[in-house]
Amino acid sequence: MNASNAALPSAQVSLGIASVPLPVREVLPWAVFIGLILLIAIYFVGAEQGATSIFSGMYIHEFVHDGRHLLGFPCH
Ligand SMILES: [Zn+2]
Repeated sequence: MNASNAALPSAQVSLGIASVPLPVREVLPWAVFIGLILLIAIYFVGAEQGATSIFSGMYIHEFVHDGRHLLGFPCH
């Protein structure tokens, strides 16, 4: 160890990498929220106005039709 490294408090600082703790308590609500949004999106792409129907008509089916085929959901 030379004199210039002796002034650094730790190897972490000398590498320029700072680790930041990621508290689960702060991340969990966002993970649940994003999971719900994704589940709703998958429902509308995969099942709405196909296997099930909350809204009448075929507007939602036609709007997500390419996505339905892209994701491999049965359609026609
Ligand atoms: Zn189709």
